[in-house]
Amino acid sequence: MIIIPDLPDVQVEEVEVAFEITLTLRTTSPTASCPACGSASSRIQSRYRRTLRDLPSSGRPIRLILHVRRFFCKESACAQKIFTERLPDLCRPHAQRTKRLQEALCRFGLKMGGQAGADTCQEQGLSGSRDTILRLVRRFSQPAESSPRVIGLDDWAYKRRLRYGTLICDLERGQPIDLLPDREVSTVEAWLKKHPSIDTVSRDGSSEYASAIRKGAPHARQVSDRWHLVKNLAACVSVQITKTLAQLRRTKELRPAQTPAVQQTQQARRAERMARYEHILELQKHGMKSGEIARTLGMSQRTLQRWIATGNIPYSRRKRQRASLIDPYKTYLLKRWHQGCHKGAQLEKELRAKGYKGSQHGVYRYLETLKASIPAPSKYKSASKPASSIQPNLLLTLSASQATWLFFRRPEDFKLEDQEHLQQLRQANPSLEVTYQLVEGFLHMVRERTGEQLDA
Ligand SMILES: [Zn+2]
Repeated sequence: MIIIPDLPDVQVEEVEVAFEITLTLRTTSPTASCPACGSASSRIQSRYRRTLRDLPSSGRPIRLILHVRRFFCKESACAQKIFTERLPDLCRPHAQRTKRLQEALCRFGLKMGGQAGADTCQEQGLSGSRDTILRLVRRFSQPAESSPRVIGLDDWAYKRRLRYGTLICDLERGQPIDLLPDREVSTVEAWLKKHPSIDTVSRDGSSEYASAIRKGAPHARQVSDRWHLVKNLAACVSVQITKTLAQLRRTKELRPAQTPAVQQTQQARRAERMARYEHILELQKHGMKSGEIARTLGMSQRTLQRWIATGNIPYSRRKRQRASLIDPYKTYLLKRWHQGCHKGAQLEKELRAKGYKGSQHGVYRYLETLKASIPAPSKYKSASKPASSIQPNLLLTLSASQATWLFFRRPEDFKLEDQEHLQQLRQANPSLEVTYQLVEGFLHMVRERTGEQLDA
């Protein structure tokens, strides 16, 4: 009975071991109970064979051939004149698979989904198509829900930025227990009222959830989980880093045409504005008023309202420089520069031949900007530079969120260049160094769960 479940009234008649193991089983109980009226009967009407797939054994598929019987129901009043004997521990009526195989397929389906589940099952010798697995998953019902005590409320995106529901998890069992269609106070409140066993609710920073809990479970303690604590801290640090990076950019802005370094800087700036915009939406979603958001992010309320109204990030363009006669020739000059020709007189001659009508000064001025900017990017990359020579331009290629991430990532996940970036970031502004120290202390408390140190 190692291979097949230990069933009291089943006898193994034959075992055939080929690539597939076939077990022939016969039922032995003298009577069977009618499923409609429950009365026992011993009058056999007929016999037939059922074939069932079972869990594989040592990688070999197992097939059960089960000889079962049909009985006459003794109760003359029973509508069920003839019934088939059942083996509820082994399989469901009419099923082609044993219960334990169905349960295994369902578990794969719940974890991996239909197709991936079916592929993995096939590799493991479990018989079940994608459709079978999905049918079992749909039929699956969670074990009856015990009374949850500690739950987490969090929003869950049906469609990001457009439609949110509320996901409720039992934090003691580590399982989702419900999904509400929206994040309205009334919906969450009603749910909480139906679950009076709750005494602790972990939530994000949203004021809606706070108010729903106050109304629906006033006795419950509201807490924030570690993830949200760190997320909130990161949002605050990100504002500070954004300001520092903006300052650096103002002082170190490069004038010349689109060298790779400048392009990178512009991309980083765009990414940063995007991050800031998403941050605004996030705060807004949590019910923060625009005045409050503006103060938190250190921007004017007018700017903020304009951003929200346009529904997009206005990329600030750099001030337009007056069109210059040299402009159409810049690509050519850049190409020649990269080819190694840095001589003004020679390049001017070549431009004149191409039709340049501007001044000699115009050519030389442009070559100056090339000289100032081009050698830079390749040198910065070298890791051998002593730490003392600070190159703030390196920081300018980072977006605010990339830079913030450096403060929060575990050091063991660092790449070499991250280490350098972090070093420079901390040196860029004394208050950032202080922030870094505080963040590190806080993360240590969060990761080691030593919250009792917080007050100190
Ligand atoms: Zn009956």
